[in-house]
Amino acid sequence: MAQIYKVEKNVGLKWPQKCVVCGSSEVVPATAQGASIDDIRWYFFFFRITTKSASLSYPLCKRHRSIWRAIRVLTYVLLGGVGPIVILLLIYTPAHAATIWGITGVAISALWFLSARLPPVRILKVRDNYFMLRIKNDRYALEIEQLNADKLGAW
Ligand SMILES: [Zn+2]
Repeated sequence: MAQIYKVEKNVGLKWPQKCVVCGSSEVVPATAQGASIDDIRWYFFFFRITTKSASLSYPLCKRHRSIWRAIRVLTYVLLGGVGPIVILLLIYTPAHAATIWGITGVAISALWFLSARLPPVRILKVRDNYFMLRIKNDRYALEIEQLNADKLGAW
């Protein structure tokens, strides 16, 4: 399970001085970033997308920060590699196109899971004045609620 909160953009949240994942008290700052599509405008032959973004700093122990960095890098590398590999496979083994598309679908779902469901802290749905904050660790989320009782909106 995970908890989701509505956080005003200019409010500094107080965090317990311990790792969001394991609770270790030796922490270093980690960053969560998020962006949402704000507007899509069509012109004659192209379109322009504007986004709104937000970021915040939260505590992780050194070990979990390196694990999350590694997972993020791996996700980008895999995402960048999927397209070219699929195209090459389709060109050289066209008879297996259905299988290739099937495996591609599974791979993209797995990447989506890695990047969207696993992170301990995630920013969703950024708007002008607020964003949604997702905390994966329920017990930790409760402590944040207690520290920031006046700042967190219910969702
Ligand atoms: Zn940790």
